[in-house]
Amino acid sequence: MRITVEAKIERADGSRQTVEIFCLERAPDPAPRCGIGVLLSESRDLLGNLQRVVLREQADEIVAAARQCRRCSQRLAVKGSAGIVYRTAFGKVTLEAPRLYSRCSACGARVAASMSCSPLALALPERSHPQWVWLQTRYASVMSYKLARSFLATGFAGAMDLRASSIRSSAQRIGARLEKEMQQRAEAFWTLHHDDAAIDARAAVHALQIDAGYVRSVPQTEGASWISVIASKVVRPESQRTHAHAYAGGGTLWRGDRQEAFLASVGIGGDVPVVLLCDGGEDVGVARLGNRSLRILDWFHIGMRFRHLQLALKGLPGVDDAERERLLRRAEGAKWLLWHGRAESCLARLQELRRDTGWVGKRNALGALAANLENGKACLTNYAARRARGLPISSAGAESAVDHVVGQRMKRNGHARWTRRGANHLLQVRCAVLNGQDVRNFKRWYPTQRPLATAS
Ligand SMILES: [Zn+2]
Repeated sequence: MRITVEAKIERADGSRQTVEIFCLERAPDPAPRCGIGVLLSESRDLLGNLQRVVLREQADEIVAAARQCRRCSQRLAVKGSAGIVYRTAFGKVTLEAPRLYSRCSACGARVAASMSCSPLALALPERSHPQWVWLQTRYASVMSYKLARSFLATGFAGAMDLRASSIRSSAQRIGARLEKEMQQRAEAFWTLHHDDAAIDARAAVHALQIDAGYVRSVPQTEGASWISVIASKVVRPESQRTHAHAYAGGGTLWRGDRQEAFLASVGIGGDVPVVLLCDGGEDVGVARLGNRSLRILDWFHIGMRFRHLQLALKGLPGVDDAERERLLRRAEGAKWLLWHGRAESCLARLQELRRDTGWVGKRNALGALAANLENGKACLTNYAARRARGLPISSAGAESAVDHVVGQRMKRNGHARWTRRGANHLLQVRCAVLNGQDVRNFKRWYPTQRPLATAS
């Protein structure tokens, strides 16, 4: 059996052409053991050949349209020709790109200021299809560049001669554009809202969870082994959708304006009150929101620290079961005092526990908890009362914002080491992907093409 795939081309000028795209042959086999149908390798060839035809036809149309003088309809003279390599998911193709004289020899009209121009080069400022770059970026946001390359190669002919370093530069380039966009938004937000009157946020239903983490750095360029990452996420109450934002700390990036711009970008405008759920860490303190936020120590983090304390008490050496039970009950009691907004009593209870256990300093579960509560004292609230009113108090059992964004891709025990800039750009890409931005959003990160001038 033999199947031939042909493409029938009908051009705008009325000409027609049929080209063979692909031919598939199968020997008769009444009992196929390896399945039937088109194979992956064949699909790559089929699509690759089809893509070549489509690209050449489209490129020819672009050149033909540009060649016609817009005033007198004469064709512009060709000065020379060069090849443009265009990359797509289905393979790369070298397209013929003639250079045209910019001035019409018949009527003298000019299409460009320079003596000659290449219409195709102008129409394709980037030599890769947006969808292909998007796909690379998407893979690179969840796995290493090398792995992304090998995964892409199983399905797409375009990855056959794609290097991991090209995927890296694509992802970094997109990250840089996203970063620029976010900085512009932050500046615009600040200009619009920096002198807003305060908004009472006590009854806010939108909660922004914010916390800090670390990724491994390249010590030679960064001077330290870690780069701090500030991450935030917000769940929109109406849609229950999670949106994330993150950036590598340091420099001018430590600004609440950025969080504001992030909220605005997901439709939570500057006049909407917001609860800021924080973990009391010092890193996060800098990224405060403006006049419409209420800071609350995230009950999720508090609960975790109390759990650590419980575990530590269970393993406390040199106490009998009755005493251990009493200590555990006192710790539990301290937690409920805090839950009901009695922070001072809770802290006093923790001090008593310190005496009973002999734990001093901050390097133990009890010390860490007490220090955290002491630091974040201003952000403690009556959690029970808020819960009763259905107001947000916690990031609700979900993973922390930092874990959500940094994830396996950039985790601190991974092998990858980052520069501040590189980490920041990849964080932008990861958030875009996590937030469900797809190729439609992706197109706006693309530079707009420079059109040829109309006849003057
Ligand atoms: Zn002309």
